[in-house]
Amino acid sequence: MSNNCIFCKIVAGEIPARLVYQDQHLVVIEDINPQAPYHYLLVPRKHIRTTLDLTTADNDLIGHVFQTAGKIAHEMGFAEDGFRIVNNCNEAGGQTVWHIHFHLLGGRDLTWPPG
Ligand code: C5P
Repeated sequence: MSNNCIFCKIVAGEIPARLVYQDQHLVVIEDINPQAPYHYLLVPRKHIRTTLDLTTADNDLIGHVFQTAGKIAHEMGFAEDGFRIVNNCNEAGGQTVWHIHFHLLGGRDLTWPPG
């Protein structure tokens, strides 16, 4: 756990969040500022600052994130229509919370390119 990390505090249950799923590796919450009818954040329990800080030790974790995202999309009923998994890295990439996370967006037609 990293001091003053809002997602570490959510993972630890110190800050409330709308929990969708959790297991020993990650928690999934509803985004407080949803950009689509379904907008979830898959947050690894491990504090990893950005995508650039991943190591080979995290390979299984990232595979698990993507598999879990697909399962949630199926369970929520928007998998077949389509969805998007987004990771923002560093300022120009749109990252605002410095604990790695993956957005799962679905429930509407998602345009390309993103803003
Ligand atoms: O990719 P980025 O770092 O910008 O995403 C952070 C996301 O975390 C935002 O979509 C924001 O709405 C969400 N958030 C949240 N709950 C918080 C703080 C931020 O869902 N307490």
